[in-house]
Amino acid sequence: MNHFEYKDGEKHCEEVSLSEIAREYGTPTYVYSAATLKRHFEVFDKALSAVDRLICFSVKANSNIAVLRLLASMGAGADIVSGGELVRALRAGIAPEKIVFSGVGKTAGEMRMALEAGILVFNVESRAELELLGKVAGEMGKRAPVSLRINPNVDAKTHPYISTGLQRNKFGIPWGAAKETYRRAAEISSIEVHGMDCHIGSQLTETEPFVDAANMLTVLIEELIAEDIALKAVDIGGGLGIPYQEPGEDRPPSPAIYGEAVVEALGVLRKHSLQLICEPGRVIAGNAGILLTEVLYCKESEIKKFVITDAAFNDLMRPALYSAYHPISPVMQTDRSKEVVDVVGPICETGDFFARDRELPEVRGGELLAIGAAGAYGFSMASNYNSRLRACEVLVMGAEHAAIRRRETIEQVLENESIPAFLD
Ligand SMILES: *Cc1c(COP(=O)(O)O)cnc(C)c1O
Repeated sequence: MNHFEYKDGEKHCEEVSLSEIAREYGTPTYVYSAATLKRHFEVFDKALSAVDRLICFSVKANSNIAVLRLLASMGAGADIVSGGELVRALRAGIAPEKIVFSGVGKTAGEMRMALEAGILVFNVESRAELELLGKVAGEMGKRAPVSLRINPNVDAKTHPYISTGLQRNKFGIPWGAAKETYRRAAEISSIEVHGMDCHIGSQLTETEPFVDAANMLTVLIEELIAEDIALKAVDIGGGLGIPYQEPGEDRPPSPAIYGEAVVEALGVLRKHSLQLICEPGRVIAGNAGILLTEVLYCKESEIKKFVITDAAFNDLMRPALYSAYHPISPVMQTDRSKEVVDVVGPICETGDFFARDRELPEVRGGELLAIGAAGAYGFSMASNYNSRLRACEVLVMGAEHAAIRRRETIEQVLENESIPAFLD
């Protein structure tokens, strides 16, 4: 369910027409629907309502502080992976007691920031990280709450770049080393064992890998409890996929089905009064945003028609990085006949495309296109490659709209560069 629909022949975001947004803010521009974000959060939360839960939105999926504020106002916490994301989450008004810190490469400086802020828990991914965190917390006279991220070696059956729960992935503590690492954590006086964590991948389209992971965690939790290592929480990570409307794609389970499967598999939650933590990103934000772009030119080769847009893969990397499919539709509804085209950006790389051999109603220069399902891992992965200015981000709520990030200027991009005197 999203709020990007045609009204009077023109695609809208809620009550605002996308051409009005293009006139006011220019293109390329990310447009997010507040109603869709809210709805996705509510549906996800409701799906887990049978248990005590904390839903920590994965900030890397969409890091804009206005998006974070909206979710915070609904009770969301944050799953962060850097000191920068910590600052964003706090700036957006997310309570530190609702922040979990994930990632394989936390620095001592980031640990200090997070301990200072008083976050809920560190998801620790290695023995070496545990030792460093113990040392940093000890120096500060604090105890660091810790969940160990366990790598359960289950196949998430997703794109290899976003699969994280296999032995060959860099993530988490290997299953075989989990118990001894817990014993070590329990022994360090500046560490407080808080829970157990796992995150097996992203864009999962089945419940089975989540259930497999939950079953593995259950075994370990029971063994730890038998050793008097008590836990307060189980974090099942994020990773639930969304429909990208690719022809023939596997439709991911609904949050309701996912929630039921996870809660059932994690009987330990109620048995031992543990809190469930989830870290959804894509399922909340993915279908709540589009990338609005103007067609600059159309050109035909002997074998193909190319539609060249003012957005490029520095704005939305997913097609280039993961061969991801994004639905594309014209902003003005048309009855022109269909044709097969490549939709590409202006960057000097063949990987700069949004769609290949896509059937679209005949496209003309100057018209607007909406690239769908771009609310997660869209702007947050944008770069300045080709010295392109990062896009504007607009939030729509009903008939209201506002720039939640202004388009970048070239002066901002050049700000940190300088020519040293020895070159003169
Ligand atoms: C990326 C990530 C998430 C969010 O994944 P989604 O597929 O967007 O739900 C959650 N937890 C961790 C540790 C992550 O790295």
